[in-house]
Amino acid sequence: MNGFWQKMKNGFARMMVGRYGADQLGMATLMAGVVLYLIGIVFRSGILNILSFALYAVTVFRMFSRKREPRMAENRKYLEITGKWRLEGTRFIRRQKNKKEYKYFRCPQCRQLLRMKRGQGEKEIRCAKCGNSFKMKS
Ligand SMILES: [Zn+2]
Repeated sequence: MNGFWQKMKNGFARMMVGRYGADQLGMATLMAGVVLYLIGIVFRSGILNILSFALYAVTVFRMFSRKREPRMAENRKYLEITGKWRLEGTRFIRRQKNKKEYKYFRCPQCRQLLRMKRGQGEKEIRCAKCGNSFKMKS
């Protein structure tokens, strides 16, 4: 039995030689495929099922691709795009949590997002980014 699994492992390793393999984008397309499949079951949507299998196909195609450069470029692009979303998402959640304690506003000059503690009355604000000073009520 051990010999069998060892052979399977070796076989898989040989198959993956020179192939691109898994990356963050691969995980994302796989997860998206699973999510679409589950939503498809709930809503009995054949289109979503087809879409989910298309995503699996993309995942497998990229994993077994021998062209590393374009696959890496795709993954970089993916990380670039979602990085902004992830950052914005965590910032948004933090703002919602702190809303009662802090007032959020933008610098009139550079649009940098700033905050001040509530209940301080009118106060001179200095933008941390561009150094612009202005008055703001908390
Ligand atoms: Zn500013």
